[in-house]
Order: sequence, then structure tokens, then C-alpha cells
Amino acid sequence: MAFTAVELIEAKREHRELTPEAIAWLIEAYTDGVVPDYQMAAMAMAIFLNGMSAGELAAWTGAMLHSGEVFDLSDIGAAKVDKHSTGGVGDKISIPLAPLVASVGVVVPMMSGRGLGHTGGTLDKLETIPGFTTRLDPDRFREVVSTHGMVFAGQTETLVPADRKLYALRDATATVPSLPLISSSIMSKKLAEGLDGLVLDVKTGSGAFMKDIEGSRLLARTMVEIGVGHGVRTIALITGMDQPLGREVGNANEMRESIDVLRGRGPEDVVQLTLALGEVMMELAGIDGGRDALVDAIDSGKALEKLIEVTKAQGGDTSFIEDPGLLPTCSEEAIVTAPVAGFVTRCDALTIGVVATRLGAGREHQEDTIDTGVGITLEAKLGDRVEAGQPLARVAYNNAARWQAQETSLSAAWTISETPPEPKDLLIERIEAS
Ligand code: URA
Repeated sequence: MAFTAVELIEAKREHRELTPEAIAWLIEAYTDGVVPDYQMAAMAMAIFLNGMSAGELAAWTGAMLHSGEVFDLSDIGAAKVDKHSTGGVGDKISIPLAPLVASVGVVVPMMSGRGLGHTGGTLDKLETIPGFTTRLDPDRFREVVSTHGMVFAGQTETLVPADRKLYALRDATATVPSLPLISSSIMSKKLAEGLDGLVLDVKTGSGAFMKDIEGSRLLARTMVEIGVGHGVRTIALITGMDQPLGREVGNANEMRESIDVLRGRGPEDVVQLTLALGEVMMELAGIDGGRDALVDAIDSGKALEKLIEVTKAQGGDTSFIEDPGLLPTCSEEAIVTAPVAGFVTRCDALTIGVVATRLGAGREHQEDTIDTGVGITLEAKLGDRVEAGQPLARVAYNNAARWQAQETSLSAAWTISETPPEPKDLLIERIEAS
């Protein structure tokens, strides 16, 4: 054996550059169980503290990517483009976006995750539709995407197994918020999908991983460079996450709101972001028509039909899309009201996301089960004028003790002031390779 974990950890600790061969050995040995968790934890902490050079990051991402199966979808002639969001509160964009762009000819092999911490997950939202299966083996994944031009799936067991182990380890060792570890983790999984193009929605603000614009910009640039370096056309949009997206937070609530978008009556911010990301996906796929084609697909019902078609293909009961009133709800409702009159100057995404999770809409640990009917409907968002006693939010819950424990925190998510806030853009910046 040419390397030992101890010497590589020591090199990283002393700021010495790791060679591509050393990195390839380490990732393979860790995936195979030859390097134990405690040594990889020390390495993750050394990387967290000392960072990685561009060369190390490229080698690390490549080694992660090749730790498992890499999809080859080249037999599907059209351009394959996916979207990845770094995660936020009320971020249901994947659900309307994938059928919308698939309905205008972009092939979307969409791989999503489950909710963890204060952010929700696309798979949990889709599974509020009875029968909807997102656990697909590679053959079925390929079949659905080639027949319907899109698929909604969870990460398969065989894709980037190194990340499955390393992400869990980072979660337990306070090494998640490391720029090279986040960007290599996200991009290795996206690159393994066999894409031609990728749009990244990099969030910034209270409800985002990266709270400030500089951090978000650096993350976006790093991921764009990794994508382009692997021959995948990659563009990032930096978008605001100080307040939740849309009016709905919670799994069934967000599924309902996603269907609303495809029915042409979605909230303005969700529609704006869906169209902006959709336009970039069309551009990456080399398909003309842009925004007008997307708006037409919503107005004509073509995009909603695509959601119904793919739901049927993945075993879901389409009557829940035709009548979203069938989706799960809760037995109890509480209303949070404005203590004074004025303008909403803060509607804090992080607080609302944490409260929704604690009420049962999300998971604090991977093995937790979720309560799909739990939801928070926002009645007042940034810039809205409210009178004293007017509802700020409606909360659907099943567990009264949990609600009592969260009531004060949720009320504190809003700040109401005499003067309106400066308007903030949702679409902040576009980042592409220089
Ligand atoms: N999402 C991922 O997939 N990996 C990270 O490291 C962070 C967010």
C-alpha cells in the first residue's frame, strides 16, 4: 500500500498539498471500510480548518464521483439538465419546475433529497401523494426518464457511496459547513447523474446554509467551476432566503402550492423563481422559447399534465393532483396574530423552518418520521402592512404539546415596524464560468 491515513491526515494538518493519487486512495479506502470513521473524521476536521486547493478539490470531487455508479444517459438524445438548490424554507421549486421544463422539451433526471434540519425535502413532499414512489432502481430510473422526459427520484444506493458515509460522519463531527466538503458533496452526486447541464440555486440569507452573500458567491463559483471542469454546463443563481418562499411551509401544504403554480395561480415569488430557473435550464439545453414558452406551458395546462403523467408513471394517485383538497391536513389549527399595526420588516425563514420541523413537518435525525399534514401558512410576509390582531400565520398541527412549546418562538419570527423595509430582490446574482 502506497499511503497510510495517518500520513495523509498529518499532511493536511500541516497545510501540505495532497496529491490526486493520495486522495483517490483515501476515498476508495474509506468507501471500502479500510480507513475507519475516526481517521476520516480527523481528515474532515483538517479540511474544515485548512481548506483545499483547487487541485485537491477537483481530485476529491472526482474520487467521490467514481466511488460508485456513474449514470450514462447518452442514449437519450436530448439534453439532460437538472437543478440543485442548496436548501431553504418553503423551497418547493423542484416540484413545479421539473414538469414545467420537461413539458417544453428539456429532459430532467431529477434527483432530490429528504428534509433534514430546518429545510424540507422534495421527496417527502411528493410522497404526500399516496403511492408516489421515489425509490427507483437504476433501470426503472432510466425507463421513466426516457419515456416521460423526466423523473423524480431519491439518490440510488449505488450513486456516490463515499458521500453517503462521509455526509453522516460530517453531521456527527461538526464538519458540515466547510466550503470544499459541501461543494464536492453536492457536485459529485450531480455529476454522477450523467447530465449535460446543471442549474444551481444557491440560497443566501437567514434560512440558508450560507447566511451572507460573500459565502454564497464563493460556494456558487466553486460549484460552477467543478461542474464546468467535468464538462457539464453549469450556471448558478444566487437567490434570497431571508423569508420562506411562497406562502406555504410543510409537506402537504407545499405540494398544494406547487400544484397551484402549475394551475397558474402560484404565489409571485415561487412563480418568479420557477420561471427564472426554468429559463436557465432551457438555455443550458439549447432550447429556444425561454420564458414565453414556459408561461404558455402553464397557461395551456401542458405543465400540469406532465406532473399528472409522471405521477401516474411513479405509482401516485393522480386524483390528489386533480383535487389537492384530498392531501393530508391536521386536526388542529392555531393563528399567530400581529401584536401591533405596522409593516412586516422581518419574517424569519430559519425560525419558521425550525418551528415547522419541531411540529413534525421535518426531521431532526435521519430516522425520524414526519407528520405530512403539519404546515404553516404565512398570511403576512416582508413589506406587508398589518393591523393589530391580524393573522400573521395559520398553523396546522396534531400534537398540542409540541405546538405549546413552539408558540412563542413562532410569534418571534415576525418584526413589525412603523416604516416599510427596503425591498429586497429575490434573484440576486447569476454566476457562470469566466
Ligand atoms: N448538501 C449536500 O448534499 N452535501 C453537503 O455537504 C451539504 C448540503
